Amino acid sequence: MKKLLSIDLNFNNVPRTIGTYLMETEAGLVLFESGPQSCTQTLKTQLGTLGYQLSDIKHVFITHIHLDHSAGAWELANNGAMIYAHEKGITHLHDPEKLIRSATRIYKDQMEALWGTVKGIPHERLRPLTDGDEIKLGESVVTAIETLGHAGHHHIYKIEDSIIAGDIAGVRLFETAGVVPPAPPPDLLIEPWQESIKKLKSLAPAKLCLTHFGTIEGNAAITKHLDDMSRTLDTLGAWMHETFPLAEAGRDKALAELTALLRGMIGNEAHIAAYETINPPEMTLMGVEYYYNKHIAR
Ligand SMILES: [Zn+2]
Repeated sequence: MKKLLSIDLNFNNVPRTIGTYLMETEAGLVLFESGPQSCTQTLKTQLGTLGYQLSDIKHVFITHIHLDHSAGAWELANNGAMIYAHEKGITHLHDPEKLIRSATRIYKDQMEALWGTVKGIPHERLRPLTDGDEIKLGESVVTAIETLGHAGHHHIYKIEDSIIAGDIAGVRLFETAGVVPPAPPPDLLIEPWQESIKKLKSLAPAKLCLTHFGTIEGNAAITKHLDDMSRTLDTLGAWMHETFPLAEAGRDKALAELTALLRGMIGNEAHIAAYETINPPEMTLMGVEYYYNKHIAR
C-alpha cells in the first residue's frame, strides 16, 4: 500500500484549512492538489523536513481548478512537474485570466494575499484527464473519477483503497465539528453533487483524504461522514430553493441567515473562524445568488 502523506499548508496562517497529499512512487514524488501559490514556501519547508525539494515532485494531480486547489501548480510545473486535471479545467490552468477574474469578484483586494501569484502553465506541462483514466506511475496507478456538483470539472482520484476527495466530500476541518458543503459560483448543482457522493460511497474506500482537511479512515467513519455531507447539502439546497427566494428584504439579511445556517452545520463555535477562512459565508451567498439567477429565477 502506497502511503499518502498529509501535509498541512497552514493557509493564511490557519492550521488545518488546506492540505495536500504526497506519495512516493518509482516515477518520482506525486502530489495531490498543489494548494495556492501563497503556500508554496510552506510546501517547500515541509518537503525539506522529509529530505525532498520542490523539483522532486514529478506529477501533480489537481481535483479541480479553484485557486485553493490549483494556484500553486504553475510553480511546480516550472520546477519540472507534469500537471494533471479534468480536461475542462486544463484551459484555465493554461490561461488563468477568466479564473482570476471570477475569483476577484469574491476575494477582491485579498486575491494576492490569499492565493499568491497565479500564472499560466505551458501545454507541454499539462495532461488532460477524462472519467476513468488510469495513470501508471511506476507500480502505482491513479484513477480519475468524474464527480460533478461542486464544479463542472471535478475529479476525485483513487489510489488502491484511498480516495483523494477534493471538495466533493465537503469541508470538515476537525473531528469535533461538522461537514459543510463548499458552494462557490458558478457550477454548484445539488443533484449531480448527491450523485457524486453516491459514486464515492460505492467505491467503499478505506481512506478518504479531504483537502479541507485530513484523512478519514475506516468504512463506518467514512459512511457517516458522507451521510452527514449528503444531509447538509440537502439543507443548503432547501435553503436556496425555499428560503433565499423570500429574502428580498435585502442581501444583508440573506447573508446573516446563511451564515447562521452554515454555523449550525459547523456546530462547534471554537472552529467557526477556521471554517470561515476557507469557506466564507459571503462566497457561499455568491454561489447561491448565481445558482438562483441561473436555475430558479428564470
Ligand atoms: Zn472548490
